Amino acid sequence: MTKLDCTVSTCVHNSEKCCCKSGILVEGSEARDTSDTFCGSFEENRGGLFKNLFKTPEARLQVDCDVVRCLYNDDHQCRAERITVRGDGARASDQTECGSFRER
Ligand code: SF4
Repeated sequence: MTKLDCTVSTCVHNSEKCCCKSGILVEGSEARDTSDTFCGSFEENRGGLFKNLFKTPEARLQVDCDVVRCLYNDDHQCRAERITVRGDGARASDQTECGSFRER
């Protein structure tokens, strides 16, 4: 399980720079750079009012990942202790990225 710091404050699952999902999917099967990766679990918080009303941030979560060229990727799972997902102000998945990508 990976500790996730997430700065995508426009995502409905984000609370206190953490993710409230029990698992996420990071995508970018052809990625060679951080900017080619993105969080496939992003969902824009359109209303804002009901954001995370009944949710609590997860300390650690399952990170499935399609970025097979990343050093931390092991059979489509992230093995990093801690990762950062970035994309402040994002309105769509492709405006987010895994800031912890390291090319093997
Ligand atoms: S650190 Fe690498 S393996 Fe982990 S989520 Fe980011 S891109 Fe995927």
